[in-house]
Amino acid sequence: MATIPGIYVPSLYHVEYQADGSFKSITPTVAQAKPTIQRRIVTKLPPPVTKPVVPYIEVVHDRGAIEIQRGCNRGCRFCQAGIIYRPVRERSQSEVVQAAGELIANCGYNEVSLVSLSTSDYAGIDELVANLSHRYHNLSLSLPSLRIDSFSVRLMEALPSRRKTGLTFAPEAGSERLRRSINKNTPEDELLKTAAAAFDRGWISLKLYFMLGLPTETIDDIEDIIQLVDKIRSLGRKAKGKRSRLRISLSTFVPKPHTPFQWVAQVEEEQLNSKRELLNLRLHRKGISSSWPDPKASLLEAALSRGDRQLGKVIHRAWQLGSTFDAWS
Ligand code: SF4
Repeated sequence: MATIPGIYVPSLYHVEYQADGSFKSITPTVAQAKPTIQRRIVTKLPPPVTKPVVPYIEVVHDRGAIEIQRGCNRGCRFCQAGIIYRPVRERSQSEVVQAAGELIANCGYNEVSLVSLSTSDYAGIDELVANLSHRYHNLSLSLPSLRIDSFSVRLMEALPSRRKTGLTFAPEAGSERLRRSINKNTPEDELLKTAAAAFDRGWISLKLYFMLGLPTETIDDIEDIIQLVDKIRSLGRKAKGKRSRLRISLSTFVPKPHTPFQWVAQVEEEQLNSKRELLNLRLHRKGISSSWPDPKASLLEAALSRGDRQLGKVIHRAWQLGSTFDAWS
């Protein structure tokens, strides 16, 4: 296997560490193993899966899925998927339309998700949606991962049989300064315009994702999350009155390998907890609900994602002590 370009066989390499335990070197132990593994890229996406196993119990995402694009050119600095799935490769519209027909015929689905890292960046997504709706009258479409702009709202509105229950956007940070620093360059007025457009066009609930503990984050950035949520709440109240809802999903920044933030330290649990308490206190208002996963899980995630083969023993020991699918609920 080691002779196949792009394949890394860990057992064929010897790793040395410095006295403090940090990485020193990695050397092949056999001639067939290459000192450097060249990354290989699929230039044309393989055909979409149109005969998946159909579960006979109710599942969470009970619908077909077609990958319309791989890769994302947005370059958010915290995002590992944005880096490792480069470059962007789009599937042709005709292939997507044909795949949707096959999924319906093979599996009986009446809903299909057009999957990609940034669906609204697919060239001609509005045309594709119109084409699919015209061709398959009873088909519902779902579009995950939309960028924050009015185009996305218009796009969602154009979806056939779309119940306007919820719309999700990910500003990630409360201040423009921090959004610029993570390269998620959405100006505040664009954010507010998008939220206003969503409420005006009939949505009553918006879900917003924010990340805590981003590099260079200060308490002012947390205050800015509160201010931003407040402004969006006011827009909702103005358009929809007390029916409007905001769901705030807070996650913890995890430095990921291969990203520009890979060497950044993760914020201490204590600091995260105090920021969380501040947000809980200030966002505890009618029409706003918020959720945040256990910060300990994020610390574990950082250790697992930046660790190397030495973590194999840790994972094995955790399993011996009874850990299996612990994050599943
Ligand atoms: S838009 Fe989404 S997928 Fe693309 S780089 Fe940013 S976070 Fe990653």
